Amino acid sequence: MTNSNQLTLAGRRAVVTGGSKGIGRSIALALAKAGADVAVSARNLPDLEAVAAKIQETGQRSLAIACDVTDPEQVQQMAAAVIEGLGEIDILVNNAGNAGSHKFLNHPDDLWHRMLSINLTSVFYVTRAFLPPMIERRWGRIITIASIASKVGMPYIAAYTASKHGVLGLTRSLASELITHQITVNAVCPGYVDTPMTDSNISNIINRTGLTEAQAREALEKTSPQNRLIEPEEVAAVTLMLAQETSKGITGQAINVDGGGVMW
Ligand code: NDP
Repeated sequence: MTNSNQLTLAGRRAVVTGGSKGIGRSIALALAKAGADVAVSARNLPDLEAVAAKIQETGQRSLAIACDVTDPEQVQQMAAAVIEGLGEIDILVNNAGNAGSHKFLNHPDDLWHRMLSINLTSVFYVTRAFLPPMIERRWGRIITIASIASKVGMPYIAAYTASKHGVLGLTRSLASELITHQITVNAVCPGYVDTPMTDSNISNIINRTGLTEAQAREALEKTSPQNRLIEPEEVAAVTLMLAQETSKGITGQAINVDGGGVMW
């Protein structure tokens, strides 16, 4: 008999975009350890295959599918391959994303479009591709990794912030549209997380300011009242909680994992 307090996803099938590194990799492994079969997707196939092999070590099925989520045709093909390989998906984690920064005054157009495309429009494409079977089967969990930049503004990241605010609007709107279909739609909003994305943020800070690596890292740590970077596993733990059957009453929410910097 299943203990209702246990975190279990036995019999569930999940897909994680951007599942090859950082937060997405941790989420994919956490879902698999809880008993789900997990497909991972990103652009670089060898990175994905390494994660899929790790998932298979847990005894769950896995698939690695290369896909640029900014391209709607590739997204449709990826969804078809995932559904053919694993079956219809119960849990969709929209995690693929990218950060970029620039002063607003001479902000390049291409950076603006790139940020909206990878952080916002891709979530529209991927969710649209996986939603129909969830509606038919009257069960689904759609979880998007947003950011505290979904809730507050910060200097030099206007495009990233606009894209992450947008993804929260999409989350809330879709949550209300899907309430009667027993599908929940939520966002997780991390502060700075210790991932390859943050490593490249640190390199940018070093290049722009001349700070040492330790100083640049400390500057990011200080943005959290806990004076530290969040671990990817902390974001995975919240995602795992939202994927549970017992989280069916939680929808349209945006849960911060940022050490207490943002409290709404
Ligand atoms: P990483 O850069 O460490 O990993 C990003 C993942 O997304 C990789 O698997 C990458 O693989 C994939 N990816 C990037 N671009 C695309 C694309 N066009 N199509 C498909 N896959 C893509 O990032 P994090 O783990 O740090 O971030 C994950 C999410 O969390 C992002 O949405 C980010 O905005 C959000 N976040 C991160 C924070 C942080 O401090 N790190 C803080 C708040 C939110 P590949 O390059 O092979 O495609």
